Amino acid sequence: MLAEVLPPLDPTLEDAQATLHRVFGHSAFRGLQADVVAHVMAGGDALAVLPTGGGKSMCYQIPALLRPGVGIVVSPLIALMTDQVEALRAAGVRAARLDSSMAWDDKQAVFSALEAGRLDILYVSPEGLSSGVLIERLSRYSISLIAVDEAHCVSQWGHDFRPDYRRLGALQEAFPGVPRLAVTATADVRTREDIRRQLHLTHAPEFVASFDRPNLILSTRRKDSRTAARILELVLARQGLCGIIYVTARKETEELAASLREKGVHALAYHAQMPSDQKSEHLRRFQEEDGVVMVATIAFGMGIDKPDVRYVIHADPPKSIEAYWQEVGRAGRDGLPAEGIAFYGFSDRRFMAERIDGSPAPDEVKQVQRSKLNQLYSFLDGLACRRGGVRRYFGETDVQDCGQCDVCTNPTMGHNSSQWAKMALSAVIRCEESFGRGRIISHLIGAEPDGPLETRFAERSTFGIGKGLNKTAWRRVLDQLLFDGILAEQSRDGFPLLTIACPDLARSVLKGEVPVFTREDPVQAGGAKRSVAKIALDDDLDPETLALYRTLRDWRLETARAAGIPPYVVFHDSVLRQVALARPSTTSALMMISGIGEAKARRYGQSILALLSKT
Ligand code: ADP
Ligand code: ZN
Repeated sequence: MLAEVLPPLDPTLEDAQATLHRVFGHSAFRGLQADVVAHVMAGGDALAVLPTGGGKSMCYQIPALLRPGVGIVVSPLIALMTDQVEALRAAGVRAARLDSSMAWDDKQAVFSALEAGRLDILYVSPEGLSSGVLIERLSRYSISLIAVDEAHCVSQWGHDFRPDYRRLGALQEAFPGVPRLAVTATADVRTREDIRRQLHLTHAPEFVASFDRPNLILSTRRKDSRTAARILELVLARQGLCGIIYVTARKETEELAASLREKGVHALAYHAQMPSDQKSEHLRRFQEEDGVVMVATIAFGMGIDKPDVRYVIHADPPKSIEAYWQEVGRAGRDGLPAEGIAFYGFSDRRFMAERIDGSPAPDEVKQVQRSKLNQLYSFLDGLACRRGGVRRYFGETDVQDCGQCDVCTNPTMGHNSSQWAKMALSAVIRCEESFGRGRIISHLIGAEPDGPLETRFAERSTFGIGKGLNKTAWRRVLDQLLFDGILAEQSRDGFPLLTIACPDLARSVLKGEVPVFTREDPVQAGGAKRSVAKIALDDDLDPETLALYRTLRDWRLETARAAGIPPYVVFHDSVLRQVALARPSTTSALMMISGIGEAKARRYGQSILALLSKT
């Protein structure tokens, strides 16, 4: 039995590598994993920031298996814990969880296992661990380490602040000498400092990996009147693939899911206010069925460990770059190509700005929030490599362009629209800042005046100077001027009127000293573009391998159903692809494949080998 392999007395990195291979089937540590593991195994505290899919869990699971005692993992969500415990058990690790939803008997069983020294890893909730009772109970046992997962939740600068996390600082006093490791996927410099302060990790070294996710293909798009239709097209072009669509409004999750279902898409809705049995039913189907598209609010996410999500569409913009990276990071965890497509609009930005202004938060916090909002929109609306932009935001230097995003692959991105900008600014000035967007556009294209004010301003020199652009194109130019902060919308009698927000800048644009760039050439933009999925999966496999891969997937689905676990707990797609390509004929050849460790080879090896010999 795996569990009876006694841990070495003074584990070395070679021991850790052997465990990585034997238990999890991975041949080598990736990125910073080895450094973190070595440091924690030696008893050190640490803060590790690894991108989603970077293999954070190995950083604490391996030391927990090798150091004497049970490893405690603080995890913010029951779904997340259940998933991890299930995956660990499938790999033959003695793992359990303790949370408020469990029956008394089940909790007692966990304590008996602790008492008998029959546990390697125990997952607990932050609420649970902030209670003195549980801490007191756990302190009777030998603890190998304490890991705080999703550690950004401790910081109010993080995007997912949870007050319960604040109490975790007390763990240092309660478990003196036990190494503590905080891990997260998203934390900028300020958040990292805050995590260290809150968790009393002041002197712990930081291990910060690159935030690069080379398999993510990113793009951003401005919203327009066709956004809803565009989203439908995007999903239909990706029919059969698993995706997540984030929307802001609860109502919209249901509506969009319904219209996708009408088109034959296997779509489900998810939001916080749904009855809890429906929530868990949808979550279960998302994880267990193939090709589900989840239309959700951001309530859906943390704890979603599904490796084969092929795209994330933000139908509304994310709240911050951290939130974006976390949300889009749920795509492509298996390392295969995946897309992130984010829509954003000027009104979304205005709405968020107003929320910040009107919030009761202290000025210092508001200041930080405003600057984060500006950074978010520079990213979404900017013309720099998207993946590069995120990496720089998280403090990486020496960043190369990704070569795959909308900016990198579109040489026409970024068009000098200064001539149109000048016309728009002149029109706003000549019309004495008394028109909203619609009326300014009518004025620019010289539409029949409608009302006394329009008629009066039709005398002005700017009337009809903008005939070269249609209404949609003019909307884009005005959006750009709003995004750039040259124009603003000010409400008068309930109508938003366009005003000059920054007279100096407007003057420089009018004099030709400062150019105005739009994302695309407004003359050409706005035509219906076909949406092409950038993720042509499995295309690279020859027909025979592809057929075998499909057979293996069918086998996996049956096996998972029979065991009542999600298919990816049996094997990830990437593992089955490797099996189909390598066609191993012996158990040891099978174990050469990354993701097949001892327990899985024992459990599934024979049926896979039998299946391979038949085909
Ligand atoms: P995170 O929590 O950082 O998003 P996980 O710990 O869930 O990431 O790991 C992401 C994926 O990478 C999993 O499929 C895991 O099995 C795989 N993985 C982790 N470490 C390694 C490694 N050293 N070699 C190969 N695959 C790995
Ligand atoms: Zn790029």
